[in-house]
Amino acid sequence: MKTSLLSLLVCPNCRNGFSLASKEVEGAEVMRGTLACHGCASRFPVVRGIPRFVEEGLNAEKQATAAAFGYEWTHYSQLTEADKKEFLAWIAPLTPEAFKDQVVLDAGCGKGRHIYLASRFGARTVVGVDLSFAVEAAFKNTRGLPNVHVVQADILDLPFRNPFTLVYSIGVIHHLPVPKAGFLAITRHVQPGGRISTWVYGKEGNGWIELFVNPVRKNITSWLPKPVTRCLCVPPAMLLYAGLKALYAPAKTRPALKRCLPYSEYLCSISGYTFAENLWNVFDQLVAPTAYYHSREEVVDWFTTAGVEKVTIERHNGNSWRGTGLIPTP
Ligand SMILES: [Zn+2]
Repeated sequence: MKTSLLSLLVCPNCRNGFSLASKEVEGAEVMRGTLACHGCASRFPVVRGIPRFVEEGLNAEKQATAAAFGYEWTHYSQLTEADKKEFLAWIAPLTPEAFKDQVVLDAGCGKGRHIYLASRFGARTVVGVDLSFAVEAAFKNTRGLPNVHVVQADILDLPFRNPFTLVYSIGVIHHLPVPKAGFLAITRHVQPGGRISTWVYGKEGNGWIELFVNPVRKNITSWLPKPVTRCLCVPPAMLLYAGLKALYAPAKTRPALKRCLPYSEYLCSISGYTFAENLWNVFDQLVAPTAYYHSREEVVDWFTTAGVEKVTIERHNGNSWRGTGLIPTP
């Protein structure tokens, strides 16, 4: 944890600031220490360079979700070439210029691939938050970047003053117990005049997943030991990989073929994935205990309820929704 993060943090219990007692320092990072609240008796540890606001008593559903994605992002922790292209597609119509000089929050940062990119796009400050131990990978992937901070916390109960001018959440809200509550919670951390951006699974275009994949995920694969689920993902990942290379990669330049293939908009978009990327993509679909598929109307309702203005909601890859808008100034 860099000491510059202190000016952004508040106690989640009483909204006062912290003092930081450092016990171990490596370069710019406080690797071990304690955050002591100025207003109440709350104390939060800094462990392996990361301030930890996840206390005992998380409910079982949240614990299981955190364990699933913690496993995924600490075993698949490297940043890849595909990250930038995917990130820009998920946040479109935003471009790298939208990050220039912004104070950015990534709500559900996983292994840190997007906070790394937000920093490269010219953000003034970037904070990545995740509930799971994926924060360990995010910290390792970004610790050389002086303007990037990683915090372990629940996005429903974030420990920040509200300094953020750009808040985004990619592929996270649909894994929360109550997705709309999650959207409203992160939107409250955007300054007036600032921007919110999100990407979630769509109900439209994913009927076959809800019908065939969800029962397997809910009843079997999300409860198995993670290494077992990963092994079970190998055969479908091999089939998917073969299909992508044999059919969907050629279909990208052959519109007639693309029209004949099922789920083609999405599968053509991932046809360049390596086998490892495919394997973890399949794992990602099968490991989460909670996953919702949202209709356009639901996503519109989130933005409307939050009072977001100048909203753009677009279908992405035929199977998901990306939305963005501005928080009104008083
Ligand atoms: Zn306090």
